[in-house]
Amino acid sequence: MNADKPNLSIVIPLYNEEESLPELMAWIERVVTENGFTYETIFVDDGSTDTSWEVVESLAAVNPHIKGIRFRRNYGKSAALYCGFAAAQGEVVITMDADLQDSPDEIPALYRMIIQEGYDLVSGWKKKRYDPLGKTLPSKFFNATARLVSGIKLHDFNSGLKAYRSKVVKSIEVYGEMHRYIPILAKWAGFRRIGEKVVHHRARKYGKSKFGWERMIKGYLDLISVMFISRFGKSPMYLFGGLGTLMFLLGGGTTLYLIIEKLSKLSQGLIPRDVTDQPLFYIAIAAVVIGVQLFLAGFLGELIGRNSTDRNKYLIDETIE
Ligand code: UDP
Ligand code: MG
Repeated sequence: MNADKPNLSIVIPLYNEEESLPELMAWIERVVTENGFTYETIFVDDGSTDTSWEVVESLAAVNPHIKGIRFRRNYGKSAALYCGFAAAQGEVVITMDADLQDSPDEIPALYRMIIQEGYDLVSGWKKKRYDPLGKTLPSKFFNATARLVSGIKLHDFNSGLKAYRSKVVKSIEVYGEMHRYIPILAKWAGFRRIGEKVVHHRARKYGKSKFGWERMIKGYLDLISVMFISRFGKSPMYLFGGLGTLMFLLGGGTTLYLIIEKLSKLSQGLIPRDVTDQPLFYIAIAAVVIGVQLFLAGFLGELIGRNSTDRNKYLIDETIE
């Protein structure tokens, strides 16, 4: 292992958290030095409009273990984590919120769970939460759904406090608002040892929450994307082509039936009903058209997948040279 690799990379996404930063950094510094860890702290300023970046600069001026990344505008927590992960060099990468709701005192135990107990990812579980009911209730619902669809037994998917084995963060791509589902992304990437640890949570001390009510809608839509991509992302044709073929056959079969029915009536000398008088005819046409559309959607999906340059990027775990 690389000798100058620090034990810990602490990645902290922040958006307008100027008041919290000095206190948070002092606390982190105390914990890591007490435990004898080598570390780096990476502050990712997600386009703050207050003086957060100046605060990060002044902290970094007196502590060589502090790194900063600044976005030109607000891109969101997922983007901030993505860039923090790309820059992280430690054996264990720990993420925590900047608002002092997550306690740095949890760091040593999280580190041990990764290094000694062999977990790939440990998620903090805010068993006793200090957040308003309007947030904790929807969150319960989210977590129940996420547990159900992913099969990962976590109580708290979206906790900002998490610890990762270094190669986990290098093999997942957190984009959009996917920071809520990182354990699911990790599971797809083949990391199976996902655990949780009950952590202390505190009420927000300064400022206010950066996510509004839209978090619920976005969260659900993202969960649907996550489910879709995990099942069909690599082979959209299996879903769309399958459904399309089914619809097409259904519509085609019905049309055939209508034609045969008409011909048989004619041959018996009966006066058949006009095809356009029958609801079944319209259903059949709609089914054929939708079937072709679905099939095309699958085909386009395959073409797009074929064009993506990084589709085989994250396959390999270890090699012997
Ligand atoms: N955050 C961010 N970009 C954003 C929104 C939030 O980097 O667009 C950071 C924020 O500064 C904090 C963490 O993400 O460090 C969690 O945000 P917040 O405390 O507002 O979320 P909550 O605790 O209400 O879930
Ligand atoms: Mg918070």
